[in-house]
Amino acid sequence: MAARLLEGRPVAEAIWREVEEGAAHIGEAFGRPPTLALVSGADEAAAAYGRQIERQFTRRGLSVLTSAADREDFITHLRGLSADPLVDGILLLTPLPAGVDARDAALAIAADKDVDGQHPLNLGRLGQRRPAFAPATALGGLRLLKHYGVELRGARVVVVGRSPVVGMPLALLLIDADATVTVCHSRTRDLAEVTRSADVLCVAIGRASLVGPEHVRPGAVVVDFGTNPLPDGSLVGDVQTAAVQVVASAITPVPGGTGPTTVAVLAEQTWRAAEIGRGVR
Ligand code: NAP
Repeated sequence: MAARLLEGRPVAEAIWREVEEGAAHIGEAFGRPPTLALVSGADEAAAAYGRQIERQFTRRGLSVLTSAADREDFITHLRGLSADPLVDGILLLTPLPAGVDARDAALAIAADKDVDGQHPLNLGRLGQRRPAFAPATALGGLRLLKHYGVELRGARVVVVGRSPVVGMPLALLLIDADATVTVCHSRTRDLAEVTRSADVLCVAIGRASLVGPEHVRPGAVVVDFGTNPLPDGSLVGDVQTAAVQVVASAITPVPGGTGPTTVAVLAEQTWRAAEIGRGVR
């Protein structure tokens, strides 16, 4: 039997409903909706993603201020946004302008406005299992699993990928959800042997269709974070969806799986930052 498709849209919609209500409340109480400062990336894909975020935020009653800065002014620009009382959250779109160091940029964002969880303080808090802004894609993946009732407590979860944007924070969030977590990366020996031990397999590597049915234990749940553009303009994940569907019990589609939850979680964290900034939380 083909695996159940774990669509991201219903998960995102549930998050958006709460955010819309919360944003409206903030707007009424303080005369200004939760506001995200979006700092443009250096290519057209980033610009398109920025426009998509702006459209969705605006439709749901949040506000977006888009800006850009050259390499020389980039860090100063971020510090300015961090100090700006009209800005609640800050999101850096990647790729950053050539010559800007991603770590310096993350450090220039105030930790309590870091709604995509890139400041080391937020990653450290996650590691200590304290409240933190988590990277939105990673938290979106966790929300998706919870939404569909996937049991994480005591489950064997394998995360493939250890980036600070997806794999590493996802592993921390899953540990906090009482899963037993193994993290794989490009130096993992016999990847398929490790991934076949997973009740839940999460893949975030950025290699089109690398994970096939031989990597998946029969009945496992598979979450595919990969978004790999093909020459014809379509998107594929890191997992061979059709082939893995025959083996897995459930799998996220690409597109339409983890993607929609990312933007909804960004909005949720922007609303939360607005509440923190106004002393509501
Ligand atoms: P990244 O920074 O390039 O990290 C990739 C990770 O995968 C690294 O840890 C790397 O290992 C590991 N890896 C690479 N090749 C591997 C292989 N053959 N076997 C095992 N591990 C391997 O990428 P990322 O930013 O985490 O993004 C991962 C994917 O998620 C991309 O497709 C990206 O487009 C997508 N993404 C999706 C969303 C969303 O909203 N759905 C958001 C962000 C990213 P090493 O550490 O050893 O190099």
